[in-house]
Amino acid sequence: MTEVVSTVASVRAAADAARVAGGTVGLVPTMGFLHAGHRSLMHAARSECDLVVVSVFVNPMQFGPNEDLDRYPRDLDGDLGACAAEGVDLVFAPGVREVYPEYPPATVVHVEGLTERLCGASRPGHFDGVTTVVAKLFAIIGPCHAYFGEKDAQQLAVVRRMALDLNLPVEVVGCPIVREPDGLALSSRNAYLTATERAVAPGIARSLRAASAAVDGGERDAAVVIGLVRAALDAIHGLDIDYVECVDADTIRPIERLGGEVLLAVAVRLGQTRLIDNVRFRLAP
Ligand code: AMP
Repeated sequence: MTEVVSTVASVRAAADAARVAGGTVGLVPTMGFLHAGHRSLMHAARSECDLVVVSVFVNPMQFGPNEDLDRYPRDLDGDLGACAAEGVDLVFAPGVREVYPEYPPATVVHVEGLTERLCGASRPGHFDGVTTVVAKLFAIIGPCHAYFGEKDAQQLAVVRRMALDLNLPVEVVGCPIVREPDGLALSSRNAYLTATERAVAPGIARSLRAASAAVDGGERDAAVVIGLVRAALDAIHGLDIDYVECVDADTIRPIERLGGEVLLAVAVRLGQTRLIDNVRFRLAP
């Protein structure tokens, strides 16, 4: 049975009890409107942990003033069904005042160096909102395994670095991107796409596959790889590129030659909707 709680005290008590009984706790932080991408994180948590907690919280702090906080899709009933189907023990669905006794908080967690580029450049303050709420969740739940998607690769790198820097008792686990059969990365924001936009959206993943083929063929010049992605995206009607970048996957620093752990990341606008996608290469240094 999946239980739903909305208070910090009750979710903390459940996590404490699981650990006292000798069990491990798995945390899957989400903003709800759950899809198969989220479910893959729950599945990983279920297979590795004794108590699985999914948080459903649309975090106001990670939205900019002109972003989609008000229209972000919400469906708690559907989310509970998805959690039950994945064998989740506990859904933590708090209100804003429960998470932020004072809003905005006076204490903000900022990860320097990994947050200025890519999504940080076009969404100022976004990662401070993410790291502040994730630090809160880690403080509320306590020692745990926390599952994040590689879909949000910069977020994953930033959260890992925060956990390292603050000695947080959390093992951060990255999970592969789940895609539609036509390649489009699953996202709650895909619900915003018109039929025409949805029809061209798989071109984003296709542009990354074209670049991957070049890298598989030995291409190591980041400018060439980025150029391939840009050329493919430029051909998509109605799509505006926000960024296409090749960075070190751990430090998010730009690179000129591909080597080691490389992240090729894109963000685009299709009409009103901002979509991100990426591919990671594990290459010889
Ligand atoms: P969100 O609800 O968008 O904040 O996402 C919650 C978590 O689900 C984050 O760790 C995301 O990276 C992860 N996630 C979202 N979409 C996908 C996907 N297509 N594949 C894997 N993980 C995903």
